[in-house]
Amino acid sequence: MATVKLRDVRKAFGAIEVIKGVTVDIADGEFVILVGPSGCGKSTLLRMIAGLEDVTSGDVAIADRRINHVAPKDRDIAMVFQNYALYPHMTVAQNMGFSLKLAGVPKPKIREQVEHAAESLGLTPYLDRYPKELSGGQRQRVATGRAIVRNPAVFLFDEPLSNLDAALRVQMRSEIRELQRRLGVTSIYVTHDQVEAMTMADKIVVLRDGLVEQVGAPLELYDRPANVFVATFIGSPS
Ligand code: ADP
Ligand code: MG
Repeated sequence: MATVKLRDVRKAFGAIEVIKGVTVDIADGEFVILVGPSGCGKSTLLRMIAGLEDVTSGDVAIADRRINHVAPKDRDIAMVFQNYALYPHMTVAQNMGFSLKLAGVPKPKIREQVEHAAESLGLTPYLDRYPKELSGGQRQRVATGRAIVRNPAVFLFDEPLSNLDAALRVQMRSEIRELQRRLGVTSIYVTHDQVEAMTMADKIVVLRDGLVEQVGAPLELYDRPANVFVATFIGSPS
């Protein structure tokens, strides 16, 4: 487990600044949601925490260690993407164990960690199946499983449920939250869906055009929105 600290983080693509000075503190074990309209910079911010984009200025720290220049694989982070492309030619077990295989973990240890993760996700009966034989929800669980086998200090989720239908999305929200509570892993979860944010988060960070508009617990944002933007965004139907 670990804290995550962002200090005046900025990102420019060429002359265009898309993250304009973001400072956020995330506590050990907290489930924080970054929410905001499409294009406001959510994915860019998450990708900088993952190390998939360079930080133009400012600091990113995990467990009080500045990681601006640490390679993604050395950040003790695992990310679940929106288009969680599973490897079609690999079984569920192989998909989940692949990053451990790359890291040189011995086979019996990989099997043990994969079986453990599969059990916590209800995937034990599916370990020898291929992605095309799974439902959307099961594929999403495999994508989550790929992240948890690595036993990271921090989970990052980028709109992981956006390809699922509405009913399944609601179910997967609580599954992800239950799993995260059980593991106690600090998590940063991106969505453009304010209902998802309000129902899942310990703490919500509202982003607009590369800037933080408000940080607070769901009820705080609901009861005391900092401005008209937050009030309108949180109050509008998804
Ligand atoms: P969100 O995830 O909130 O929808 P993004 O972080 O994907 O937003 O994008 C924020 C802004 O940065 C957008 O205007 C987008 O066009 C721009 N952007 C993202 N990635 C790049 C890139 N690699 N090069 C140039 N502009 C980018
Ligand atoms: Mg995005």
